[in-house]
Order: sequence, then C-alpha cells, then structure tokens
Amino acid sequence: MRFEGKVALVTGAGRGIGAATAQLFAKEGAKVAVSDLDEGPAKEIAGPFGGLAIACDVSNRAQVESMVERTVKELGRLDVLVTCAGIIRDNLLFKMTDEDWDAVIDTHLKGTFLCARAAQKHMVDNKYGKMVFLSSTSALGNRGQANYSAAKAGLQGMARTLAIELGQYNVNVNTVAPGFVETRMTRATAERMGVDYEAFKLGAASQIPLRRVGQPQDIANVIAFLCSDESSFVSGQNIYVRGGP
Ligand code: NAP
Repeated sequence: MRFEGKVALVTGAGRGIGAATAQLFAKEGAKVAVSDLDEGPAKEIAGPFGGLAIACDVSNRAQVESMVERTVKELGRLDVLVTCAGIIRDNLLFKMTDEDWDAVIDTHLKGTFLCARAAQKHMVDNKYGKMVFLSSTSALGNRGQANYSAAKAGLQGMARTLAIELGQYNVNVNTVAPGFVETRMTRATAERMGVDYEAFKLGAASQIPLRRVGQPQDIANVIAFLCSDESSFVSGQNIYVRGGP
C-alpha cells in the first residue's frame, strides 16, 4: 500500500502501459484519475477500482488544464503525474510528412509539457510531487522514427531540467524508457510492416538478453518505484527497462 492517501493522474491510461500503471496505483491504495483521448477506454479501466475517468487530448492546453483541475477538485489533491499518452507515425525521413512530425511531437513532447506545467502548481503548493514521463529506447535512435526518437530524447532532457527546477519543492521528476512492450503500439508496428505479431515478438525477444518481450506490468513496476517514497532521493534520472543493458 505504497500510495495510500495519495492521488495519481495517469495520461494515456485507457490501454497498455498507462492502464497497467493506473491499476497498480489503485491496488496500492491511491485514488486514481484515468485519462485517455476517449472516455470509453478510460472508463473501462477506472470502473473496476472506482477511479475517475477523464477524456483529454494532452496536446490541447485547455483540456489538460481542465483535466488537472478536475482531478484536484474531485479527488482532493495531486501527488503523482505519469504521462503515457503516445502515438507513433513512423516513416523514413524522405517520406515523413509535416503532419507525421507535428502529431508525434505534439502528443509526446508538448503534451507532457502541458501536463507537467499544469500539475506543478499543485505539487509546489503541497511541497510534494512525483512525475514520471514515458521515454523509450528509441531516444537512442531508431530507423523510421525521427519524430518519435526526437520526442523521447526530448522528454529525458525535460525531466532533467524539471528535476533541477522543482527539486527545492520536493518534487521528483524522472523518465522510464521501455524497449519492446506487448501493447497495441507494437501490434500496430507489426501490422504496418505486414508481419505476423507472434513472429514479430519472437524476433524481438531473440535480440533481448532476457529472451522475452516486456509486459505493461514490467514498466508499471518501475514507474511505481519512481513514484514511491522508496526513491525519494532519485530525480532527473532515466531508467531503461528493456530486458538488458
Ligand atoms: P498504447 O497501448 O497505444 O496506449 C497509448 C494511449 O495513449 C492510448 O490509449 C491512446 O489513445 C492514448 N493517446 C494517444 N494520443 C493521445 C492524446 N493526444 N491525448 C491523450 N491520450 C492519447 O501504447 P503503450 O505501448 O501503452 O505506450 C504508452 C507509452 O509508452 C507511450 O508514450 C509510448 O511511446 C511509450 N513506449 C511504449 C513502448 C512499447 O513497446 N509499447 C516502448 C517504449 C515506449 P487511443 O487509443 O484513443 O489512440
């Protein structure tokens, strides 16, 4: 029960890594706001544990500010922010459109900026806060992902900067960078490449030292550690969670 008495807000929590994170927070005692682009998936996840489902496009400032205000109003405070909302629009550079670039940068980078800026006000007032942003191994470079890798590397820089700015208010800011995780996102990549998903996973697993792909719970466990008081002296760090170095 590491999160008893705490309030957590998770974006992109209608599916995948965000959903697993929201469920873990709730299991460990937190009141959880489950946010996603559409209300349907958010409600499906929040329903079983009585969480607050909020529809929010994280790239829209007004929607983000209203999501944070609703969380504080209805759940009482805001202690934890985890930004999982994400999309991919992969293409080699010469085929990548302005729209592919903008959509990915707006969702991951601007979206996290808007969420962090809206959340920090409450965390600074309370002199307590934990933020975790979802980066990726793609931050190190990945063919066909100029937009996504730029966003994911950018998030690591943003987290380090916010750790410096907000440390004096007892707010920790870190990133978690998963490798291959079994979610709709990797399923979509397989579909785009015209590869069977089971074969795609086997191929990925053979390249991973632990010889398996990640599950959303593998990532949620590390996020929860970084949002717990066990890691209260860890800030501005990135943890790669990829079954190997
Ligand atoms: P996922 O299952 O596709 O979940 C992402 C969620 O974000 C979806 O519910 C999606 O809603 C939502 N979303 C998309 N655009 C949004 C927006 N503008 N505003 C609010 N929500 C939005 O993906 P996942 O694999 O769990 O990914 C979670 C995070 O981990 C992402 O940041 C991703 O980049 C990162 N990550 C994933 C992997 C991996 O292997 N899966 C690896 C490294 C990093 P809709 O379904 O309605 O579009």
